[in-house]
Amino acid sequence: MQDWRFKAERIRVAALLQCNATGTKTTFTNFRVPSYTRFSAKLAAKESMSTDLRIRGLLAPALALTIAYSIEPMDNPFMARAIQLSLNNVQSGRGGPFGAVVVKDGNIVAEAANLVTATNDPTAHAEVLAIREACKKLRVFDLEGCEIYSSCEPCPMCLGAIYWARLARVYFANAAADASKVGFDDSLIYREIAQPHSQRQIPMIQMMRKQALAAFRAWENKPNKIEY
Ligand SMILES: [Zn+2]
Repeated sequence: MQDWRFKAERIRVAALLQCNATGTKTTFTNFRVPSYTRFSAKLAAKESMSTDLRIRGLLAPALALTIAYSIEPMDNPFMARAIQLSLNNVQSGRGGPFGAVVVKDGNIVAEAANLVTATNDPTAHAEVLAIREACKKLRVFDLEGCEIYSSCEPCPMCLGAIYWARLARVYFANAAADASKVGFDDSLIYREIAQPHSQRQIPMIQMMRKQALAAFRAWENKPNKIEY
């Protein structure tokens, strides 16, 4: 089921509870709430026509606020699994507090937890490992039509991997700022990307472009190559 449907349902239930509590007939109009929520609320109202919800006058802003702030992140089994993986990883001592799950057609294709320290691999982030495992299982080199659930907002490396893998959507739980507070700060990398090569902390020096271009020419001219 799509997320907006979960959200719409949650809003509908919150509205119904509120209406029951106040004994008031209500309608979803003129909400000053975030556009996404407003959209979902309208949608929920549409779906709830039979309940004749009518919110008017002074009650509307109060109810809108109640609804907007009563919407907790959805109970999503895939995200719950990603979070469980992150917790397990801490408890087992295998690695950092990160987990990720790749999902296709409502089924988990692959899952992974951070294994940087366990495998001496600085690239062994949960998202990268889950993407590798999913591609291996599906025998593909991109994950079109798949979604990834990560217990934390992906770092620049994982975000790059997600784009290369052409995942359809990214869901995340902890924000990058939350990770930063416990010692995983990737903001430096984002800042570095914006810097000219010469001003980065790790110097980037170009050399031998002419020779390297030979491989690109060969690729361009190669018939029947597997493009990706
Ligand atoms: Zn990462």
